[in-house]
Amino acid sequence: METKYHSSMVISVNRDEHMIIGFVIGILTGVLGSTFSENFDFILYSLFVGLTVLGSLFPDLIEPPNKKNHRQFFHSITLFAFLIILLIWVNFGNQSVLTYLSTSFIIGYLSHLLLDATSQIGLPKY
Ligand SMILES: [Zn+2]
Repeated sequence: METKYHSSMVISVNRDEHMIIGFVIGILTGVLGSTFSENFDFILYSLFVGLTVLGSLFPDLIEPPNKKNHRQFFHSITLFAFLIILLIWVNFGNQSVLTYLSTSFIIGYLSHLLLDATSQIGLPKY
């Protein structure tokens, strides 16, 4: 009984879970960002958290769980690796508002893929 219950829990991650994790990560990385930058005011902080949440929902907006194309390229390990490189590139010696906003979106997106990776189906390679 318990095994069955457990496996049914991890088959997929729902939207609310993605949103909550995205929100928490947005709050935390926003705090981190504000310690590195003076122009991290309340508006920017709010945008940062909002975009992290949006990023955490985005993969399932492109590839909805109830559609045939769920978990393809936009859920792939290839895209994950690309986003890590993009994240480093965007942040390299750069502290513009655009940097913060793209960073928050990418971080949210990565949190979605990481969470999905823990589920039973996992992520495709590409
Ligand atoms: Zn997903």
